[in-house]
Parts: sequence; C-alpha cells; structure tokens
Amino acid sequence: CGIVAVIGTRDAAPLLLDGLRQLEYRGYDSAGIATVQAGELNCLKAEGKLINLTALVEERGAVGHCGIGHTRWATHGKPEQRNAHPHLDGNGRVAVVQNGIIENHRLLRDQLQAEGVVFLSDTDTEVIPHLIAKQLQQLQQLGAAASGATLLLAVQRTLPMLEGAYALAVVWADCPDALVVARRQAPLLIGLGEGEFLCASDTPALAGITRTILPLEDGEVALLGPLGIELYNGAGERQQRPPTQLRGSD
Ligand code: GLU
Repeated sequence: CGIVAVIGTRDAAPLLLDGLRQLEYRGYDSAGIATVQAGELNCLKAEGKLINLTALVEERGAVGHCGIGHTRWATHGKPEQRNAHPHLDGNGRVAVVQNGIIENHRLLRDQLQAEGVVFLSDTDTEVIPHLIAKQLQQLQQLGAAASGATLLLAVQRTLPMLEGAYALAVVWADCPDALVVARRQAPLLIGLGEGEFLCASDTPALAGITRTILPLEDGEVALLGPLGIELYNGAGERQQRPPTQLRGSD
C-alpha cells in the first residue's frame, strides 16, 4: 500500500519510519523495513500499527544508510507478520517491498518451488526477491561484480516476467550503496534531498524532506546511489529529464 525507500548519508531507519508515518492515512495492516550495511541485511516487520514496528526497531536496531519500508494492505495472504513486507530471497540477501498485485504469481511460485525455492509467505510479492536473486546468481557466475549495475540488471531481467501493476523497491546486502526502484501502473516518486534520495509511493512521505522530485514514468526503473540517478525505460534505454518542484498544495 505504501512504499518508502532511502539512500544517503543519514541513518535510514528513522527516515523510513517517518516516511511510513506520512503514508498511514492510506490504511494498512502491517509494516516493515529492511536496511543494509557492510554486507548485512536487517529486516524487521510487525503486524498492526506502525508503533509496533517502531518499538521493534528501537529494541533490535536497524543500521545502514540505505533501506526500504512498506505499509501493507493485504491482497494475497492474510495480514500476518510473515506476510508483511519486505520479502527476502532464500539467503536473506535481497529485500523487496511492493505495492499492487503480481497477477501471474502462482505460476512463478510453482516454477520456483520446482527448482527447490522455499517460500516463507503467502504473498504474491515473494516471487520477486527469489527471481532477482536467481538473476544475481547467474550474473555473478558470469563474473559480474557486486555492484549497483549488477543489481539494476538483475531487476531489469526480472521485470518482464511479472504481470500486473506494481511499484517496488529493492536492496541487496552485497551492495549497500545501491537502491533500485521500478513501477508499472502504480505510482512511485524519487525525491532529491541533500546528499540523499528518498523514494515514495505518494508525496506526503517526501514533502518534509525535499520538494524536488522526479516521478517515475510507467515502466521505468531507476538505480540510485552515490553516482546519482540512472533512469531507464522499459526497453532499457537511458532516460534524462530534469526533476520538478512539488507545489505548495501537494
Ligand atoms: N499484493 C501485495 C501483498 O498482498 C502488496 C499489497 C500492497 O499493495 O500493500 O502483500
């Protein structure tokens, strides 16, 4: 239902929780965040109100300057903690949050299960981290580095397999300075802050941080990192356009 993602120099967890709070008005049944730092991925999720997640983050801690967050409005799978986002691949290295519905999730799940993948949730979303991890493994077997470019390519190879409407954000433990976001028939905006990028599914989550935004267009995917924004259309062609300013009323 709501997505927030951040990469920059500040601690990600408080920014993610603040952003999710701004999206609470949309309604949700559970919430979660994942942050990455120095090869470690830390994923925390809780059923019910954000205050439950906030307490969990305070108790366990969530370090890293890069992370993703989600408030879930269940479409596939009961509103339970294990169905809350983020969802991870089998090795707990790739984390994904998603809005919308993956229409062909059952087929994809059956194929992955036939290959030995074990699912931990009943969501349509969980196929995505498993598919991305599979692409990453193939790319790394071919000698690809643990870089943002590799994560981007793995996501770009995965997206054509997905049917339905989605906005999503992806992080990878092996590359803590990369965040990949994509959208199709569901909104996603990139906010350009001071030394940081903040992404969200709706403007209230960005408005307190920056008014300079770059809304993703349908079918686009973006790599965010220390080098800036790399934006591509669905055909994989690099896109360049200036950001816009949020109006006072947004
Ligand atoms: N279809 C996903 C789920 O049920 C995402 C729902 C949402 O947009 O919050 O987990």
